[in-house]
Amino acid sequence: MSDRTLEKLSILADAAKYDVSCSSSGSDRKNKDKGLGNASNGICHAYTEDGRCVSLLKILLTNHCIFDCAYCVSRKSNDVKRAAFTVQEVVDLTINFYRRNYIEGLFLSSGIFKNADYTMERLVLVARKLREEHNFNGYIHLKTIPGASDELLKEAGLYADRLSVNVEMPTEQSLKLLAPDKKREDMIQPMNYLKGAIIANREEKKLFKKAPQFAPAGQSTQMVIGATPESDLEVLFMASQFYKQMQLKRVYYSGYVPISNDNRLPAIGTPVPMIRENRLYQADWLMRFYGFKVNEIVSPENPHLDIDIDPKLSWALRNLQIFPVDINKADLQVIMRIPGIGVQSAKKIVSARQFSKLTWEHLKKIGIAVNRARYFITCQSKEFELKDLMPMQIKQRILSQGASKYQPNFSPQIKLF
Ligand code: SF4
Repeated sequence: MSDRTLEKLSILADAAKYDVSCSSSGSDRKNKDKGLGNASNGICHAYTEDGRCVSLLKILLTNHCIFDCAYCVSRKSNDVKRAAFTVQEVVDLTINFYRRNYIEGLFLSSGIFKNADYTMERLVLVARKLREEHNFNGYIHLKTIPGASDELLKEAGLYADRLSVNVEMPTEQSLKLLAPDKKREDMIQPMNYLKGAIIANREEKKLFKKAPQFAPAGQSTQMVIGATPESDLEVLFMASQFYKQMQLKRVYYSGYVPISNDNRLPAIGTPVPMIRENRLYQADWLMRFYGFKVNEIVSPENPHLDIDIDPKLSWALRNLQIFPVDINKADLQVIMRIPGIGVQSAKKIVSARQFSKLTWEHLKKIGIAVNRARYFITCQSKEFELKDLMPMQIKQRILSQGASKYQPNFSPQIKLF
């Protein structure tokens, strides 16, 4: 690799590190025609089911940008070194890195140069060359450029496993404040288009097995958290709307890293605590896999997630009237809500109790975190006394939160678009 390419790589990989929306879950692309690569779950330093840590080449095509989003290092007013890859350079890098076993896929984003379509055309061309000229079957995630035409999105979906449109800010007001060049509609419109195309492709595949795939790993988005004062309530409400209305595969939460002295933004040296990001991901997980609604997790009275305990435990402590739950009788949906019991374990409990009444020993064998769950359940064995065995920290929290319940039917005054 030449020094020039190395320099570009260092600039454009560094500029891409702020984008967190790059896990590879959900694609089932297989190696075909003795091609190169195989998409697998967990690309980008995530762990696969068999424990492998896999990675992808995560770069920008360029960090030149005609826009001036205050929270972004690539904004046009920022005095940083600029670089741009050619389409062929990205293709060559991907293939070379893949052959050396450095990566299992490509995550490609870009600043906007000239205009949205001009940039998007180049991103699509990279994916097309990889698939058509190199028979590359590894994972490809393309970032779509707000304002790009439907034709280009359509082409992108034929080559990429996943497409994403970053909404950037949780609310339209924040977007106007920090990214005045961008319009919310330019993000919502492509999301809508992709939703329609993905659904249509699913139907087509049912009728014609050989129909080409369209973005088989779906679409995702990313919100920057903590650059503006939105609460977790607003962030999670927005995310739940995206899941419902746009059928997104994932919403990613990227804690803002202060990079400028702009007085619209938090000061340098005050990054968003990592724990806030973690709690948002936990709450997101509860919404997607455990059937929790936003208003069960946060409320206008308690608009922020508890930093000290996870959202599931927090919910349980606010709803002690339903505990302890009899593990041998309760419905699956109720068992899933017990702290220390996950979806798979809850299913195992329901299946195992058909044969005998479950005891603590059974629960341990099933893999339940009994140390956490024991305060909230009863089973066939001698019961723990809920309050007596509860650690002091949890007792205090119950006393301080009392019987306060979250409002079941509130509707936050937040517009999706
Ligand atoms: S359009 Fe994208 S790359 Fe350009 S300044 Fe805004 S966030 Fe950064």
